[in-house]
Amino acid sequence: MSFAFEIEATRERARKGRLLTAHGAVQTPVFMPVGTQATVKGVPQDVLEELGVEILLGNTYHLYLRPGVEQIRKLGGLHRFMSWPRAILTDSGGFQVFSLSDLRKVTEDGVTFRSHLDGSAHFLGPEQAMEAQIGLGADVIMAFDECTEYPADAERARSSMEMTLRWAERSKQYFEEHNGEVPWGHQPLRLRSGQALAVSRQEDLVRVVADVHSRPKPAELRSAGRAWRPAPTQAAPTQALFGIVQGGMDHALRKESAERTIEIGFDGYAIGGLSVGEPRGLTREIVEGTIQHLPADKPRYLMGVGTPEEIVEYANLGIDMMDCVLPTRAARHGLLFTSEGKVSIKQARYAGDEGSLDPNCACRVCQRYSRAYLRHLYAANEVLAQVLNTIHNLSFYLDTMRRVRHSI
Ligand SMILES: [Zn+2]
Repeated sequence: MSFAFEIEATRERARKGRLLTAHGAVQTPVFMPVGTQATVKGVPQDVLEELGVEILLGNTYHLYLRPGVEQIRKLGGLHRFMSWPRAILTDSGGFQVFSLSDLRKVTEDGVTFRSHLDGSAHFLGPEQAMEAQIGLGADVIMAFDECTEYPADAERARSSMEMTLRWAERSKQYFEEHNGEVPWGHQPLRLRSGQALAVSRQEDLVRVVADVHSRPKPAELRSAGRAWRPAPTQAAPTQALFGIVQGGMDHALRKESAERTIEIGFDGYAIGGLSVGEPRGLTREIVEGTIQHLPADKPRYLMGVGTPEEIVEYANLGIDMMDCVLPTRAARHGLLFTSEGKVSIKQARYAGDEGSLDPNCACRVCQRYSRAYLRHLYAANEVLAQVLNTIHNLSFYLDTMRRVRHSI
């Protein structure tokens, strides 16, 4: 199926809806866990399914360097490679490349950079970022943009925004010419029964989809007095391409960036260039201002935020998609989010605490283990500490979004 977005309900500015992707539906507003190197660090894919994760984020920069896009493409794409049957979004690689401030050089064509792994030289521009994301085969891919640094003066914010717009045009053009190259012909298809089928060719995929929908047989229809018609030809599933609004911390530039990005035309719109060191109040102000200029019928993705309180706040402003490394990264440092506030599990006060981490959490960690045990695992630097802490934090974020959806 091609990408679609449906809004089911609204409450004030908040919207509840569904993204329909080639790898299943995603209920929005959604928090997307970050699976940087084709893994959410420490959490196996079956546990992510159990937690109710419907879409994961992958980082093109990391996968491009290791194991390489061509390798993943030959193995059938990112879904098959990492055995993840649900939706995936990849970033363009731009944000990571720009973070390599000492190792990069930006020109109109794109960015020359050195790998943080081995110092080797690489080049990433709009065409290369699209080629990489089509090769990886995520359901939602992002235009190549320049994340304007903070602070930036007016002239710099404008010239950066103008370049992002030119790169957006080039991204879209490349995408339109090449999106048929997505490696989904080798995708295992998950049936409703939960059974996975290895499907080796595009025609087989179409056939299996048709079988799954088990249309009435011609004889049944004839006996009911109705004419039988062959199934309509299924359109090949396609990736969705999102554009990114930049413009620094300037409301007028944000408005212009939004309008001109919409003019180019994308399946969804992201707000980029935030959470780059600006005060939180300013982030909110820019998000609130920018949303007004985005089309109501397309998904809105706020990149790289936030705390549990912030994701609720942004969902209430009308954001549909968010991602952040915070729950997973904090978990690995022993910082846990609970319904009773933050818990730093390393503290000695938990050494004899038999209570569960969060009495209001139904996750497998809170149902089974005590704070005392989690504290011990962390203090002893056991691998299981990272695994359990990450599972709980993700569960907390996903529950938070579930509550937001129910409130809309
Ligand atoms: Zn829990």
